[in-house]
Amino acid sequence: MGALLSREALQELDQADALASYKEQFVLPEGVLYLDGNSLGALPVGAAQRAAEVVATEWGQGLIRSWNSAGWFEMPTRLGDKLGQLLGANAGETVVTDTTSLNLFKALASALRIQQVDGPGRRVLITERDNFPTDIYIAEGLADLLNSVGAEHGVSYEVKLIDTEAELRAALGDDTAVVSLSHVNYRTGAMWDMAAITRAAHEAGALIVWDLAHAAGAVPVELNASGADYAVGCTYKYLNGGPGSPAFIWVNAKHQDRFWQPLSGWWSHAQPFEMATNYAPAMDVRRFMCGTQPITSMAMVETGLDVTLSADMGQLRAKSLELTDLFIELVETRCAGFGLELVTPRAHAQRGSHVSFQHPQGYAIMAALIDRGVIGDYREPEVLRFGITPLYLSRTDIWDSVEILREILHTEAWQREEYSVRNAVT
Ligand SMILES: *Cc1c(COP(=O)(O)O)cnc(C)c1O
Repeated sequence: MGALLSREALQELDQADALASYKEQFVLPEGVLYLDGNSLGALPVGAAQRAAEVVATEWGQGLIRSWNSAGWFEMPTRLGDKLGQLLGANAGETVVTDTTSLNLFKALASALRIQQVDGPGRRVLITERDNFPTDIYIAEGLADLLNSVGAEHGVSYEVKLIDTEAELRAALGDDTAVVSLSHVNYRTGAMWDMAAITRAAHEAGALIVWDLAHAAGAVPVELNASGADYAVGCTYKYLNGGPGSPAFIWVNAKHQDRFWQPLSGWWSHAQPFEMATNYAPAMDVRRFMCGTQPITSMAMVETGLDVTLSADMGQLRAKSLELTDLFIELVETRCAGFGLELVTPRAHAQRGSHVSFQHPQGYAIMAALIDRGVIGDYREPEVLRFGITPLYLSRTDIWDSVEILREILHTEAWQREEYSVRNAVT
C-alpha cells in the first residue's frame, strides 16, 4: 500500500468493497468508531424487532404454548446447526446453550471420562498460561473436584500451563489427558494452527478442546477437517448475539454417545417430559445441555447469526486481514515514536481479527480514545486492544481511528487525571 496511503485512496477502496453494505445491517451510534466488536458485537438492526416479537407475542400472547408453537424447545439445536455452518461442523454436532465457562467444564469433564477408558493414567490437562482466565480456572476447578473426591484412591489430576508451541509439544506425553487452547488469543490476537496442533495432541494420545470465543464469526474454522474433539465459544463477540447471549458447544460426532457430561440436567435427558426418575442421556448433542434455556436472549443469537451467515467467509477473512494490516501500518507510521509496541503476530496465518499494542500508559490512552468516540478496550498488562470487524468497519474508519490516536499521543491528552481512574469493566 505504502505511497497510496491517504484517506482519499482508502475511501476509493471502501467504495469498491463487496461487504460495505453490511454496515447498514447494524445500529451504530453517531460519532462512534467501534473497535470492540471482539468483546461485545454491535446491535443488528433486526434485533430490537425480534426481541419485541419474542416478548410481546411469543411470551405475552403465546405464553407456555410457545415452547411448542414458537419453536422455543428446539431453538438450541436449530441455532446450533446454523452456527455450525461457520465452524466446519455437520448438523447435529453443535448446540447453543449456557455460557462458554460452563460448556468448557462439560467438554473437559467429558474428555476426561473418555480418557478413563481409552487412556487410563492420563491425568494432565494442558492449557496456556496466557489463556483467557476462565479457561484456566475451570480446568483447575475440575481437577480440584476430581482430586478431592478421589483423594482416598490416590487420584491426582494436574493442570499444566505452557507458553509457546515448543513448550506445548514438549509437554505432550503419555500422561496428557486433554489439551485446551483458545484458537485466537483474547489478548494478543495470536492464532494457533488448529489442524497441526490437533494432530500433535492426537499423536500423543490426548484429546483437544478448542475455545472459539475470538474465532467464531471472525476467522474460517474447520472443526471436522481438523479432527478436533470438542469446541466451545461465545455468541456475543463476533456473532453479535447481544450482552451475555448463550454460548455454544460442539462435540465431534464420534464422542457424543460415549459418556455423558456431569451437569446432566433434564434438558440433556433422552425424554425430558417423561419426567423419569432414572437418567438416560439424549443420544445426540442435546446431552450437552443442562436446564431451561434463556429464550429471549437466545432469540437474539439468531438475528446476529443470520447477518454473518449471509456474508461470504472468504471475503470476510480477506477484509479482516486487509483492515488489520492497515491498522498496524497506520499506527506504526502515523504514531511512530510514541512507544506503541505491536503484540499481535504480523503473519496472516497466525492472526485473528483483533490487533493489540502495548504501551506503559495503555489504560489512560484507551480512556482518552473512548472519550473521543473510538471504542476499543484495555487488557492487563498495558495492552490496548482493537477489534476489527469487517462487517461494520471500513478502511476510512480505521484511518480516522488512528488519526484520533495520533492526536492523543501528540498532545498528550491522555495525561488528564480522569483517564487514569479505573472502571470495573475495562
Ligand atoms: C470471552 C471469553 C470467554 C467468556 O466466557 P463466559 O463464560 O462467556 O464469561 C471464555 N473464553 C475465552 C477465550 C474468551 O475470550
